Amino acid sequence: MKILLCIGCLTTGCSIPETKVYVCDSKNAIRYHYKATCRGLSNCRHAIISLSLKEARNRGKTLCKWED
Ligand SMILES: [Zn+2]
Repeated sequence: MKILLCIGCLTTGCSIPETKVYVCDSKNAIRYHYKATCRGLSNCRHAIISLSLKEARNRGKTLCKWED
């Protein structure tokens, strides 16, 4: 039996919208950014990819120092 329905979903929504962040798709990139236009990304020589905040943290990224 695996019937786990969240009744609250109907009113409040179970999933909080994921915050999207941007990271430079480089092994050396350690930061995530809220804005794709952030100056911290301007010197990225790789693709800029969009991740959920959770995913970015799972990858060991920390918030860009240009943002707060
Ligand atoms: Zn940034």
